[in-house]
Order: sequence, then C-alpha cells, then structure tokens
Amino acid sequence: MADDCLFCRIVRQEIPVPLVYSSPDCVAFRDINPQAPTHILVVPREHVASLNETTDAPMLGKLSLAASEIARAEGIADSGYRTVVNTNRDAGQTVFHIHLHLLGGRAMAWPPG
Ligand code: AMP
Ligand code: ZN
Repeated sequence: MADDCLFCRIVRQEIPVPLVYSSPDCVAFRDINPQAPTHILVVPREHVASLNETTDAPMLGKLSLAASEIARAEGIADSGYRTVVNTNRDAGQTVFHIHLHLLGGRAMAWPPG
C-alpha cells in the first residue's frame, strides 16, 4: 500500500467512493470522468504502479474476470464492452496504480485514438 496513492486511498476507503464490486483481490468503482455510459475502473487491492511492474498473472486474470462479472451485472455483456489498461505516457496513464477500464453502453470506434 502506498500512503499517497489515490487508488490505494480508495481501496482503504479513506476516500469514500462507492464500490460497485469488491472481492478479496480487487475493487471497482465508477470513473469520475466517464467516457462511456458505463465506465468503471477495476483496481487490485495491492499497489502495483503499472503493467510494467508486475508478473502477477493471477492478479491480472482476476481483474479481467471481475470486469466480465461487472459487465454482466451492468447489462452490457451482450451488447459489448471494452477493457483497457493504459501504461505510461503514450497510453495516457495518469494514475500509477494499475487499473482496468471497463467501458460500455455505446458503440466504440477502432482503432482507438
Ligand atoms: P488512466 O488515465 O488510465 O491512468 O486512468 C485514470 C482514471 O482515473 C481516469 O479515467 C480518471 O478519470 C479516473 N479518476 C481519477 N480520480 C478519480 C476518482 N477520485 N474517482 C474515480 N475515478 C477517478
Ligand atoms: Zn496504490
């Protein structure tokens, strides 16, 4: 846990963001600046700065499985959704606690911007 990390503080609920999902391994909450009708961040409880800093395959798998479970609960599993992990500058990562974006509820373009 990093004392000054925003997402660690949300995991600890020092910042009382409502959770849409909680397990022993990860939590999920709605993005404060949503880019789609459903935009949820899935975050491991453990502090890992980015995909470059982990080899924890079970943790990474659990993020994806949590996203698919949340997508079903949000009613976007059949219509479709996108999961994204931004890593470092060129991807626009702004919070250096790894997180998976779950986006859905509208059609999305490909390739992404
Ligand atoms: P990234 O750019 O991939 O690092 O994504 C960070 C995301 O965190 C952005 O989409 C932000 O809108 C979101 N975000 C930042 N602060 C908060 C917060 N307090 N609660 C919810 N989402 C946040
Ligand atoms: Zn953190």
